[in-house]
Amino acid sequence: MRLRRDLTWRRFVMEGQDAYIFKDEVSQAYTKLDAITGTLALKLDGTLSPDDLLEFARSEWPGLEFDEDFIADVLSELKRLKFLDDPFERNAMIEARVRQDRAQINSTTFRNIFSIPLGTVDPDRFLTRAYPCVAFLFRPFFVALGIALFAFSGCFVWLNRDHIAGGNALGFLGSGQPLLAAFILWLVVTLATIIHELGHGFAVKHFGGKVHRLGFIFVFGMPCMFCDTSDSHLFPQRRSRACVALAGTYTELYVATLATLVWWLTPSGSAANQLAYTIILFASVGGILFNYNPLIKMDGYFVLADLLDLPNLQEDAYEYLGYLFRRRVLGVTTECPVEGRRRKQILATYGILSILYSAAITVVMYIIFRARLIESLAFVGSLLSVLLLWVVLQKVFRPMANGARLWVLDHRGWIRQRMVTLVALAALLVGLFFLMPVPGQRALPATLRPGREIAVVAQDGLRLEQSWVTAGMPVEAGTLLARLDPDSLVLDRAEVAAEARTLRMDAVAARAQGADAASAAADQRADAETERANLLGQRVRRTELRAPFAGVVLTPSQPERIGEWLEPGDTLCIVGDFARVRAEMEVTEMDLDEVRVGAPVRMRLRADPGRSLHGKVAAIEPSDEATVEGRSYRVWVQLDDAPPVPRAGLTGRAWIVTPSRSPASHLVRWLARFLRTDLWV
Ligand SMILES: [Zn+2]
Repeated sequence: MRLRRDLTWRRFVMEGQDAYIFKDEVSQAYTKLDAITGTLALKLDGTLSPDDLLEFARSEWPGLEFDEDFIADVLSELKRLKFLDDPFERNAMIEARVRQDRAQINSTTFRNIFSIPLGTVDPDRFLTRAYPCVAFLFRPFFVALGIALFAFSGCFVWLNRDHIAGGNALGFLGSGQPLLAAFILWLVVTLATIIHELGHGFAVKHFGGKVHRLGFIFVFGMPCMFCDTSDSHLFPQRRSRACVALAGTYTELYVATLATLVWWLTPSGSAANQLAYTIILFASVGGILFNYNPLIKMDGYFVLADLLDLPNLQEDAYEYLGYLFRRRVLGVTTECPVEGRRRKQILATYGILSILYSAAITVVMYIIFRARLIESLAFVGSLLSVLLLWVVLQKVFRPMANGARLWVLDHRGWIRQRMVTLVALAALLVGLFFLMPVPGQRALPATLRPGREIAVVAQDGLRLEQSWVTAGMPVEAGTLLARLDPDSLVLDRAEVAAEARTLRMDAVAARAQGADAASAAADQRADAETERANLLGQRVRRTELRAPFAGVVLTPSQPERIGEWLEPGDTLCIVGDFARVRAEMEVTEMDLDEVRVGAPVRMRLRADPGRSLHGKVAAIEPSDEATVEGRSYRVWVQLDDAPPVPRAGLTGRAWIVTPSRSPASHLVRWLARFLRTDLWV
């Protein structure tokens, strides 16, 4: 019996115990063996028989007792691991590996929706040949230089931050040819990522390991790249493993420095300048935030795994949580896969955090993807989003279904005894599901509006002399908002009044001469002129535009309008009354029968999320807008309480109580809405 000579191995101390890690170069698998099994395995050079091995064990560990059975167990274990030389088996393994390489996208590819590997290459020969050219980068001097250059360029960018045109990292995408710009951005970012991954690869080479897989991977739907650095498990020093994990970011520091140079040399606002700025952000801040989150399997995870000395941190954590679930929830007794109190604590903590994070990110990414799909593909997009949901949910439900099956198998007797009760309970639940009415709730975006609005308008065609209006300005009833230029009116009025006085004097003179008829006519004309003068006086007073009631000005100030000629009926501003507040929201005709006049509403404003406002649906009226989903309707909610600082246009979310329906009917409506079709309603 002989140990395969292509196995690589490393002896290490883990939690105070000696152990070995063996790497199978054919299957690329890593296996941990305890000290005795490992030592015995290494003894198998083809000359020793099982009896010789037993003798060796007895002499090596005199304090322990060994028998033939123990040796047989060790040998069968090594045989199971395919560690013993067997030319036939080895060929089969190589064939299996070639087959696996050929079918790179297979059923397992999509099993883990969080990280889908695609298109891998074997970069080992390239890395071996190219390593001498870049070996200098791993000398302490160059590491220090890289960090110093990066720090310097970071300071430089910070000092010159005013030159960042618009501050929008993707701003240049909008200019000219968006497709070309997007392609260039993609190309450059991919290039930076490849350099990052090659950094990992060269670091593995630096410490004498091999790299057999480099490729694309989708992490939470975002295209990323990965470099299989698992050979670092074989490195004797933890430090070198940490170096491998950090090497990606280290090489990216040089990319960021180079980009800073380009950014400095190119004119501000040019495409190259903006692109360089994007790369600086991507290679430094973005890369570090994304890569060093230990809850996903990126660089930070591997650093953490090395620090904790748990090379399979995530897998072990999930396995341990699965065990806890089976044991505590399902009551299935299985063997605990983990030993040691500290390990259990670490694995449980990491597992829970990682699952929570993954779930949160999955939900967020799904919502974004769904919105994008529906936006660009309408109904087909919503169907695709359902398909995507199915793929995501399967990942959650499959282990749960397995757990439930295990539980049922374990409790067969218990179930059989209570068959009648269980069937009755199920029937009751089904009955309630289809018949019991349950009130529902719909969440809709809503906007705050004043209880009433009034437009302050010019009554006469006059020049605007002064205006004190600004948006949000609180006003009392009668507050002066603006003044129109009354000069021409005042002049007219003085003329008319003078004319009236002259006529009045003419009348007095005529009466004195006994010309009664002429006197009466003059008096009449004087009365008419006085009336005109009074009217003009009224118009002069109307040049002062005042607030009709206490409230808030809703329209912005318009200093450019001062001096402008206003026609009669021109609006100067709108004043809103916030003594009572309304909320406005839009529903589509598909949702129309969910909203009833008088239905209670609860609303939360984005500006004041701690407070709930309450009210009732006051009116539903058709609006002019017709969307893809059909005609839209405007729903007015009369709110009973106003926020402390009411402003028109504050947005928030309102929950409307919908009519009571059976859970089944609620579900059908929810599905119809999810699919954005009114076929079933
Ligand atoms: Zn990396």
